[in-house]
Amino acid sequence: ENNTSESHTDVLIVGAGPSGLMTAYWMARCGVRARIIDKRGTKVMNGHADGLRMRTLELFDSMGIQHRVSHEGFVTAYAAFWAPGEDGIPIRQNTYTSAKINESPLNNMLLSQGRIEQFILDSIQEHSDIQVERGVIAESLEYDEQQDGNLEAYPITVKLRTLSDEEASLATDPENKSKSQVARNGLYRSNLTADDWDDLIHRSKARQAKTEIVKAKYLIGCDGAHSWTRKQLNIPLEGSSTDHIWGVIDIIPITNFPDIRRLGTVTNASGTILVIPRERNLVRLYVPVQVVEAGTTRRFDRSTITPEMIRTRVREILTPYTFDFQICDWWTAYQVGQRIAPTFTKGNRIFLAGDAVHTHSPKVGLGMNMSMQDSFNVGWKVALVAAGVAHPSILSTYHPERHRLAEMLLDYDRHWSPLFTEMKSEAAESPDKTQTMIKVTELFEDFADGLKAFYGASSLVWKPEGGEEVPAVARCLIPGERFPPAKLRNQAEGGTHWTMRLMKSDGRFRVVILAGDMRKYEQKQRVHTLGHLLAGHGAVNGSLMRRYAPIPGRFDSPLDLMTIHSAPWAQAEFFDFPDILRPLDPVMGWAYGKIWCDDAPGWDRYCDGRAYETWGVDRTRGALVVIRPDQYIGWVGELENVDQMVRYLDGVLVRAGNARPKL
Ligand code: FAD
Repeated sequence: ENNTSESHTDVLIVGAGPSGLMTAYWMARCGVRARIIDKRGTKVMNGHADGLRMRTLELFDSMGIQHRVSHEGFVTAYAAFWAPGEDGIPIRQNTYTSAKINESPLNNMLLSQGRIEQFILDSIQEHSDIQVERGVIAESLEYDEQQDGNLEAYPITVKLRTLSDEEASLATDPENKSKSQVARNGLYRSNLTADDWDDLIHRSKARQAKTEIVKAKYLIGCDGAHSWTRKQLNIPLEGSSTDHIWGVIDIIPITNFPDIRRLGTVTNASGTILVIPRERNLVRLYVPVQVVEAGTTRRFDRSTITPEMIRTRVREILTPYTFDFQICDWWTAYQVGQRIAPTFTKGNRIFLAGDAVHTHSPKVGLGMNMSMQDSFNVGWKVALVAAGVAHPSILSTYHPERHRLAEMLLDYDRHWSPLFTEMKSEAAESPDKTQTMIKVTELFEDFADGLKAFYGASSLVWKPEGGEEVPAVARCLIPGERFPPAKLRNQAEGGTHWTMRLMKSDGRFRVVILAGDMRKYEQKQRVHTLGHLLAGHGAVNGSLMRRYAPIPGRFDSPLDLMTIHSAPWAQAEFFDFPDILRPLDPVMGWAYGKIWCDDAPGWDRYCDGRAYETWGVDRTRGALVVIRPDQYIGWVGELENVDQMVRYLDGVLVRAGNARPKL
């Protein structure tokens, strides 16, 4: 073809929804040559997913974007469940708080997908020159698995086509094809913030139709529930054959229902609605409309669902309260079943993430979270392997780590969804149902909020010998789980900071030295012996900081050392610690940000001096911990177990000066 060019890239990402953008974030942070394409002409502007769970927000904090969510989002610490009383009129039956002050400093929040996409886009731009190529569709895929073993090869060939403006806008809003739907998903300038608006202007630049052959080393398919990439690989989506259809509407309600600004459910004889208060006085309502059974050949005509119909349904259910709206920000008929792909990878080069490999009903508020957490998991692994920093063997941990969680997600949805769609009308049963809702929520909440990850043993997750799950030295720092956040005091400065913000998602593994009580002579000796070993005067043979290949253009070492001691702040000094834990840069000065103290200053109630207790670590003896770049614990041991820690790291990271290992 005349207008066809050929090019090479290390990583090609198909799809720029939450999952694709999160993958691109890692490429940007680790300096990897990558491209990201999306057939849509613009990013999502309004509507779509909105729920953000605690763990996602913790990860955002480590990426440096959580403050933006805090400014714009709605905190959902409180839920209310309404069901009919004796006279059939809905009354507030139960309340529930999702805040977990002892687990995470962040509460679950709600904010529109479009804003989240914007924040990640801005971060990608801050760290790289990667741009989403919009209005570009992937059309053919060839994969030569034979070349997998050669890390310099480009075994993937993808044909890309730039769409015309008309095609790109149809891809953005396929429903607009139908005349009856023209009003749907309308964009109102007043609803868009300035940076969203920039994106729209960008879209209007004239485009030239062309095709391009791209050769890639790695391909990550983040192309949503109808994933083109998954289909090319003949990977099916398996699961339930029942699709629920929901009317979803984002409105500014005019109502005297007292809990309209509280997350919750309302049930009466004619059904159940889910109420989700949002930013800017918006409220999202989910209204179950219909169930399509297996084997029905007739395609459900979604055009029968209109905002008018949703308004009528909501009025019926909220009776005797009044309900109306003037402003509708977005609405849709959302149809989805519970489905999962049996495998998330093809060879060691192609990975699928997000809705591309699991779909479920939107009401558990996890779609966007799970999708971003999938790509948060696979993104750094592919980035570090592509950069020549990590062994390719780590790539095989992606499927077992995330597939298991996707199965749990579907299990949660299977328990939760019927509570809406099969809600019986008898008033007497309803209070029991709201109790069941609370029970199901409690049963799955640690998983749903992302507080438990269940990552099994692998080259990236060391598990204690003898089969026990919990390391004796740090009872609550479990390899394969998240590092529980704590607020700490900086030794040099005295100010306080949360660990998840200190442990930046920048591609480095973090070696955390829990130095214990440095006032005790014997303990101080242990810490200095450790410093000696890390600096290369012992078994390690050469400084640990120079042992592994650097992250090119980003960091001299893929390791970052961080020390947290447990003596009272005023009884320790920055210079008490071995040099390697607080290195001097001839230009940038001492690394004051590396020595921290678990002590309560009195003026910050979150910095309570109980981090060691939270982590189950002895205040005198401390511990040694390795945290993976995605903030999950990789290895835990005593200060003396440097050999074992180095064996763990050797299994993951490429030695400096070594040729690339073969697969
Ligand atoms: P997506 O966000 O679907 O992104 C996939 C991207 O890939 C799209 O931008 C698409 O244009 C692009 N793409 C697809 N094929 C190609 C190709 N061949 N070439 C180039 N690009 C391609 N979740 C909730 O939690 N609550 C909700 O209320 C809710 N409502 C939703 C309503 C709608 C209409 C949709 C579509 C989704 C909704 N979701 C909801 C789901 C939520 O948006 C997803 O869970 C989340 O966006 C998944 O992110 P993702 O990046 O995996 O996929």
